[in-house]
Amino acid sequence: MNILVSGGVGFIGSHVVTELLNAGHNAIIVDDLSNSEITTIDRIKQITGKSNILFYQEDVTNEATMKDIFSKNQIDGIIHLAGYKSVGESVSKPLLYYQNNILATIILAKMCLEFNVANFVFSSSATVYGDKLSPLREDMVLGSTTNPYGESKVISEKILSDLVDAHPSLKVSILRYFNPVGAHSSGLIGEKPKGIPNNLMPYITMVASGQLDQLKIFGDDYDTVDGSGVRDYIHVVDLAKGHLVALEGLKQGLSIYNLGTGRGTSVFELVETFQRVNQVGIPYQIVERRPGDIATCYADTSKIKNELGWEAKLSIEDMVRDSWRFFAKQESD
Ligand code: UDP
Repeated sequence: MNILVSGGVGFIGSHVVTELLNAGHNAIIVDDLSNSEITTIDRIKQITGKSNILFYQEDVTNEATMKDIFSKNQIDGIIHLAGYKSVGESVSKPLLYYQNNILATIILAKMCLEFNVANFVFSSSATVYGDKLSPLREDMVLGSTTNPYGESKVISEKILSDLVDAHPSLKVSILRYFNPVGAHSSGLIGEKPKGIPNNLMPYITMVASGQLDQLKIFGDDYDTVDGSGVRDYIHVVDLAKGHLVALEGLKQGLSIYNLGTGRGTSVFELVETFQRVNQVGIPYQIVERRPGDIATCYADTSKIKNELGWEAKLSIEDMVRDSWRFFAKQESD
């Protein structure tokens, strides 16, 4: 199939495109490179040994451009990943996040109708569950989100749900990601945040490399195994394979799936595993809780396992090893 991947050059997108090519699909990437680098495309070609990628450096919210791309190409399905993703930035720039993330979903949904594309996979987030208690299930009533980024995902989900109600022949799958980390085992593609990272794993790698002095652990007094926050970290290669399974298993109507491992890992456990596996020290300091954080967040993964036969295979050890390999390789290149 010819699959349009919005945000296909980014951290998750590059791994999704790699899996698509490996499975014999063609990728048409639309990415404005606002948080990614063009060299990633060559690296995907190097990993897969395939060159069937068409790349448009464009903004998905530009409707005229998107119409042009859909007119020129036979597109069988869309995997929509493009979006701004910094929780902190979304609080200081809410309009930017609402405009960009919601408009992108609307425009791609319009393209589905105008160009008869039935297959649509959307990148959502576990943040839509808000403060609900884990394990989180797809049929839960969503909790309240604490920031515009999360709200932009809730609204995009609602738009897609209403779209499917109005056009029942569409096949839409919403994927709620837990905490994607790790990198491709080649060390060629991975997460390269611009500036000081907000998320835990990229922050750890920068402390491990000496570029940042120490990790700040946001609270050690949560009601968890060791007092630090617990999250469901998922290897990005497992996550990317989940997209392929969701795409190939699309059925009429709306389906929602968690993409997680179903296991929680605390900040202390992740730091300890990173140090042990990679044999590097991570100096840290305990600081105040981060506003908006919850104690524990992990998935119930039974739905996607039962319906599509997918489950995450890679371990926390794989995640910390691959994250570090990618980071160290970037520094030495
Ligand atoms: N965290 C931390 N220090 C950091 C970044 C994150 O202690 O510099 C903690 C955070 O409080 C949470 C976990 O690590 O318990 C994962 O945070 P991240 O921002 O990566 O993901 P999210 O909170 O969005 O699930």
